[in-house]
Amino acid sequence: MKLYSTNNLNHQVSFKEAVFSSMPQDRGLYMPMVIERLDEDFLTNLGAYTLPEIAFYVAKHLLGDALPENDLQVIIKDAINFDAPLVELEENVYVLELFHGPSLAFKDFGARFMSRVMAYFLGENEKTLDVLVATSGDTGGAVALGFLGVPGTRVTILYPKGKVSGIQELQLTTNGQNVRAVEVEGTFDDCQALVKQAFVDGVLNQEFRLTSANSINIARLIPQTFYYFNAYAQLLRSGKTNVIFSVPSGNFGNIGAGILAWKLGLPVNHFIAATNANDTVPEFLRSGVYQPKPSVQTISNAMDVGDPSNWVRIRDMFKTEPAELGKLITAFSYTDEETLDAVQKIHLSYNYIVCPHTAIAWQALKDWQQDQPTGKSAGVFLSTAHPCKFPDVLPEPIAAEIVIPVQVKDLGSKQKQVTTLGKDFEGFKKYLLDNK
Ligand SMILES: *Cc1c(COP(=O)(O)O)cnc(C)c1O
Repeated sequence: MKLYSTNNLNHQVSFKEAVFSSMPQDRGLYMPMVIERLDEDFLTNLGAYTLPEIAFYVAKHLLGDALPENDLQVIIKDAINFDAPLVELEENVYVLELFHGPSLAFKDFGARFMSRVMAYFLGENEKTLDVLVATSGDTGGAVALGFLGVPGTRVTILYPKGKVSGIQELQLTTNGQNVRAVEVEGTFDDCQALVKQAFVDGVLNQEFRLTSANSINIARLIPQTFYYFNAYAQLLRSGKTNVIFSVPSGNFGNIGAGILAWKLGLPVNHFIAATNANDTVPEFLRSGVYQPKPSVQTISNAMDVGDPSNWVRIRDMFKTEPAELGKLITAFSYTDEETLDAVQKIHLSYNYIVCPHTAIAWQALKDWQQDQPTGKSAGVFLSTAHPCKFPDVLPEPIAAEIVIPVQVKDLGSKQKQVTTLGKDFEGFKKYLLDNK
């Protein structure tokens, strides 16, 4: 498998190099040179395969000779060891539950796969791999749990101080071992800027073997295609063949993976990108002008992104026919008030509790379906996190009904450890150098 930089087709690297360097020096993002349609037999018979089988098949197809089949099989088995069930809530409205992994968010797919791929490629006696990760809440937990105890690696998590929920903060700060947490006096964008700058800093690159675990890493994107195929497999088993996906979007890695799955041949009729007030992409699809903005804080804070990194990947997949992008994707954005309203409606209509991000995807799906009177597609909205991670922003009576999963029950009794830093790069650099 070869990958190129979206900023320079001639800058080509191996999968291993793309995984470890994460982002090309030219600040593009890595994309596979070849995105070939999957075998027709596989696509039409998807219903016959389990999630790990689908994952192995799709990964093998994309990665080619990047790693031996047996090793890939072991990685998949270990990483994709939880379910992603599709639940029907009403006719043509399904929720794809992606929160059954250890950190209770869909990011477990990406983080678990990536950490195991990195551990696999890491040679013995090599320099410690330093994973820098900026998080608005969920990434950090998934990455921390993905790498916890993996030999030869160390994880540094940066999160915006006071802007993550209680359970998220516990997931970030109570790990110990090879995982350390830094709270930054700033926004998620500030955290991401610090990480991005670290990757192009000469001194830091000399001192450390740096890599990113953010959704810009190609090893996080690839495993996120698996559950789109698996959702379709579940629909096929119940006799449905037309599907549209509504995806709660922040950094646009999740929906980017969906579009990659579509490129690989998954027959998706339409994608809905559902955002909160951070509406850079909805604005772009309306006006044709991509204008990054500073992020604004919302109750769906894992989507508080003003300049979504993965958007360049999506545009890149349409570089030969940019007009097609607007036909395949519709975007909606919602205020916090509308988000809460959706949470209430979902609770009332289905006796089902969603996190605020998920609520936005449901609302976008409903709004889209409203304009499609003859549409017979199964509408699938992605549930990206368990609602227990966001109790403070949900209406009190609904929050009180949430059943806390076993994964987080005993976090409160663990020791919390965190370092506080400003948002200036020099301070962050000093912290890294002082704590080698
Ligand atoms: C990360 C996250 C999102 C946004 O996903 P992107 O891939 O960044 O678009 C949505 N919901 C939750 C709960 C998340 O953690």
